[in-house]
Amino acid sequence: MAVLPIIKIGHPTLRKVAKPVVDFDDDLRRFADDLIETMRLNEGVGLAATQVNVLKSVFVIDKNLINEEWEVQAYINPEILKTEGDETSEEGCLSIPGVRADVNRSLKLKVRYQNLSGKTVDEELEGLLARVFQHEYDHLNGVLFIDRIPVLTRKLLDPQIREIQGAYS
Ligand SMILES: [Zn+2]
Repeated sequence: MAVLPIIKIGHPTLRKVAKPVVDFDDDLRRFADDLIETMRLNEGVGLAATQVNVLKSVFVIDKNLINEEWEVQAYINPEILKTEGDETSEEGCLSIPGVRADVNRSLKLKVRYQNLSGKTVDEELEGLLARVFQHEYDHLNGVLFIDRIPVLTRKLLDPQIREIQGAYS
């Protein structure tokens, strides 16, 4: 396993759409292991491939941080089939370090994804797990949580965000 460098806001890849995974092979499993190790070292609850500069439709969630009976999981080619309700709660992102803001998200989801063996799984998620799923799913579409906050809140965070972006200019 290897720890991969996480790209920060300002890097163009964070705004791109990930491509579907076609091959469920050892390379994919190794990559998922690297994502998991990188997420854990950085104490994140989730990490998308996009954040390590790889445009593959893969993210991982450390479900163990949400419920200690659950294990870390990799989600391949995820889709959101249905949403229900909404809830506002604070979020952060390893690609926008130090910035936190309240984000409104769907409360419950019906999702479909493939596991590392390529098996298609349908699941219903709610609460924090549903929130993290939506955050990581957004990454695969080039969307960041700061795109989903009110304009005024965003304006207040702008100096902090510009400072992080400065690393790439
Ligand atoms: Zn993020």
